[in-house]
Amino acid sequence: MIKRTLWLVVMACLGISLYTIVMERSHQIEEQVIMGGVAGFAGNDYVSYANPNAEPEVVDDGLNWPDIDITLPQYSIVNNSSLLSSAFVPDLAMEEDGETYAPIYGTKWQYFEAAAKPFLDKMLKDMEAAGFTPYIASSYRTYSYQSQLFNTKAFGLFMEMGYTNKDYDEYGTEEGTEVYNAYQLAAERAKKITAPPGASEHQLGLAVDIWDKERPRLSSYTVMNEEFRNWLEEHSCEYGFIQRYPTNKLLRTGWDEPWHYRYVGIEVATFIKNTGMCYEEFYKHYNPEFKE
Ligand SMILES: [Zn+2]
Repeated sequence: MIKRTLWLVVMACLGISLYTIVMERSHQIEEQVIMGGVAGFAGNDYVSYANPNAEPEVVDDGLNWPDIDITLPQYSIVNNSSLLSSAFVPDLAMEEDGETYAPIYGTKWQYFEAAAKPFLDKMLKDMEAAGFTPYIASSYRTYSYQSQLFNTKAFGLFMEMGYTNKDYDEYGTEEGTEVYNAYQLAAERAKKITAPPGASEHQLGLAVDIWDKERPRLSSYTVMNEEFRNWLEEHSCEYGFIQRYPTNKLLRTGWDEPWHYRYVGIEVATFIKNTGMCYEEFYKHYNPEFKE
């Protein structure tokens, strides 16, 4: 009997100690999780774990965002999900006669948006004064010219897949056929190399591809004249231009083009250069609904 009572007492003691240990440990764990979550990982007090759907509080990021009207044409964003219509034609710079287009400084047939052109001309002149030989490889492009560029690229890829002109003429537009599917695939691939019609900033009349005449093979940063590139990266904002597709933002913009510059005005260009953001990041601040 005594043995049995003693056994029960020992078991009860064991049970109580075990319970106490477990409770203490779980309390500790709970505390650690909270500490780690708030202080250790999230790094601020604005994240609430209680309600995962809670909106994060607006944090003053300390940046002096320009006070602008983002809906003005000079701030338009153009990419594969924000397309320009085929009817969109910018207000291109005209000669004083009001009948012929005024070409960009140093070119015969390259045109630019009227209000932005003086800034581009000035930048090109100053580049020359700094000892460079800038060359405008591309500027304003019409919707139909962009279609032509894109279709040529898509068709080239389609031919590389082993198809011919004849295949395309016979089945290229007949949904469900093997040829049709192959062409669609080629077009999808082409989108990664050449902007489809309506998706190119060049249609805005606010973008230029600036090459160095001395080093025209501009396929990547490695073949681009470094001093030339540095000058543009450093000074283009003084004329209102941003490097639109920097390498470190490739995953965000989809493009890596050191020669492609976009006019957004001096204030915005300077802000973007100083903060190191890309245009998508800038645009989203003013238009949170914007889909990239
Ligand atoms: Zn370009």
